[in-house]
Amino acid sequence: MNKELAELLFPNILVTPEELEEKYPVRELKEGAFVTRFGPSPTGFMHIGNLYGAFISSSLAKQSNGVFYLRIEDTDSKREVEGAKELILNALEHFQISYDEGYSKGGAYGPYLQSERKEIYQAYAKRLVEEGKAYPCFMTEEEISEIREGQELRKEMIGIYGHYAVDRNLSLEEVQEHLKNHDPYVIRMKSPGDMHKEIVLHDLIKGDITLPENVIDEVILKKDGIPTYHFAHVVDDHLMRTTHVIRGDEWVPSFPKHLQLNQLLGFKPCKYAHIAPLTKKEDGKIRKLSKRKDPEFSVDYYQQAGIPVEGVRLYLATLANTNFEEWYLQNKDKTIADFTFSFKKMPTGGTLFDMEKLNNICRTYFSRLSAEALYQESLEYYEKYDVSFADIMKKEKERLIAFLDIERDGKRPRKDIATYQDVKKESFYIFDELFYQEENPYQEIKKEEIDIPLLEEYMMRFSTQDSQEEWYEKIKVLAEESGYAPTVKMYKESPEEYKGHIGDICEMLRHVVTGKVQTPNLYNILNILGKQGIEKRIEFFKKQ
Ligand code: GLU
Repeated sequence: MNKELAELLFPNILVTPEELEEKYPVRELKEGAFVTRFGPSPTGFMHIGNLYGAFISSSLAKQSNGVFYLRIEDTDSKREVEGAKELILNALEHFQISYDEGYSKGGAYGPYLQSERKEIYQAYAKRLVEEGKAYPCFMTEEEISEIREGQELRKEMIGIYGHYAVDRNLSLEEVQEHLKNHDPYVIRMKSPGDMHKEIVLHDLIKGDITLPENVIDEVILKKDGIPTYHFAHVVDDHLMRTTHVIRGDEWVPSFPKHLQLNQLLGFKPCKYAHIAPLTKKEDGKIRKLSKRKDPEFSVDYYQQAGIPVEGVRLYLATLANTNFEEWYLQNKDKTIADFTFSFKKMPTGGTLFDMEKLNNICRTYFSRLSAEALYQESLEYYEKYDVSFADIMKKEKERLIAFLDIERDGKRPRKDIATYQDVKKESFYIFDELFYQEENPYQEIKKEEIDIPLLEEYMMRFSTQDSQEEWYEKIKVLAEESGYAPTVKMYKESPEEYKGHIGDICEMLRHVVTGKVQTPNLYNILNILGKQGIEKRIEFFKKQ
């Protein structure tokens, strides 16, 4: 009777599970190679949590010489948005997460778009029906919601199971009758579970988790013959020969269903690793990142904000493995690809995603780039987001590179740049066309505190030929001659004897030529501006 029922429901499905097994054979990979995947749904929004999962999955596959593939999970057509698949591809490309096979690339285990795999799912659903492990359910929405209401009222488990699963044992005639009437139906798995039993999920990140055995006759094919996530995931991960399912931990409660589906289908389940969600601290409270409240939740945010791809990747690596950060700080010449990720070092609970921390990581990243590389990367950003600054950058390439090169070497390289936007913010004063356009470039300074005659005197002595020592020596001499202490120590011993100290002269110079209280090494900046440049700024300052 089951065989007849299966034929009745799936007359057009001719392909068999055996043929599919043969078409998609077990991959010939080295022992220990991971086959992982990224399975986003094309909802039009890709968040940093998705990217985090893809990053982890791809890293684990790469480091084990395995396979990482992209499968688009578009079984929920109601949530699908135009252009969403391109958005996923662009994000992966932008963040340099490459995949070996998958949607838009192809591969021997495709198609990688679930909506193109209908026949495959139905072949397995047909087999389950044949074996009496699945059945058509003709219950109407009203009947189901009535059951749900009753269950809610009695505080019972919600769902179609046990005596609620009224269509479990329909006779062939009854099914025929329904079909004749064109009654819509879904296919449900026939759960062999026992409510009083438990199963254990051996989660590779969280450890063993005990969960109640599934008893629900979960829908596996919807009314349109399209599978649910549960069914599609189990069939696909089996046929695509996935070794490790790495996914968000919101799926932990569904695991018993997935285990049971694997058992019903006769598959060896993959290994599972559930990633803790990314969280945010706000007003002392921890909450999940939110699409509505947090712009940084969307992967689109980073590019526009000028946050470097490598900075984001480094932060994802830092979050993914607790020992990554220390390793990175200790290995100045290494990149992420040199690090070996492990499940053991992954956080088991909510993982704080902190923009401040990301900025600091980016600062370190930028501090390790050469001035030329930083220039090139930034130029790409400005070509896209601020063409007029890109033009200045191109015209003044040498000047900007000289500026970016200040304090780049040494034990404590400068860390004033966290984003590409900071390149402009931190360097604008070396470009006349930006500096003189500022509404009020001297906001940070009290005008009366600047000793203009002293600076004018200094300019008589200034030369770009001077070494840093000679430069400082000149200021020292000037200090002594003009009533300033040549050392801070001398000033502190008897402040009443002096107008100020040598440091104050440097600060006045800094303020007048840059408008800022903090800049990289002043000596270098003065040399970049040159004698004329400095004099022009002193004149400009006088007019303010
Ligand atoms: N399409 C699922 C999601 O976006 C994928 C979950 C999984 O990786 O299995 O949540």
